Amino acid sequence: MSTASLDSLYQDIILDHAKRKLNSGLREPYEAEVHHVNPTCGDEITLRVHLDGDVVKDISYENLGCSISSASVSVMTELLVGKTLEEVEPIHAAFLEMMRGKGQVEPDEDVLEDAVAFAGAAKLTARIKCALLGWMAFQDASAQAQSDTQKETDK
Ligand code: ZN
Repeated sequence: MSTASLDSLYQDIILDHAKRKLNSGLREPYEAEVHHVNPTCGDEITLRVHLDGDVVKDISYENLGCSISSASVSVMTELLVGKTLEEVEPIHAAFLEMMRGKGQVEPDEDVLEDAVAFAGAAKLTARIKCALLGWMAFQDASAQAQSDTQKETDK
């Protein structure tokens, strides 16, 4: 596939997810809730994580922001919900590596699936924080959820 048509395919994935916002809306139960803001673009997200043991049972969120930030969190929930924390870790790491690679990191489509669509955004410095917003919120919330679970077992 030519670069031009690949770019427009990625564009379609992003626009489609920005419209559908999979798993959006705040739901119960959840162990941790975080609120993250991207001051550069004005994107905001409130995100909840529900873990069952080490399985990510649900990621629910409400967000306001540009289509990159909306699409990114939508793709992320599609990729991560239902997986164990152990399975989530390399996907999350690969996304961060791609976004921080300034377009120099060749994304692994087997790991990132639709999230490879953000490879183009990695070249646009102003959009990197947009694409990372939901992913950083998830990292924060899941760390909090795990430390809460840890406290429960310590009791
Ligand atoms: Zn944005």
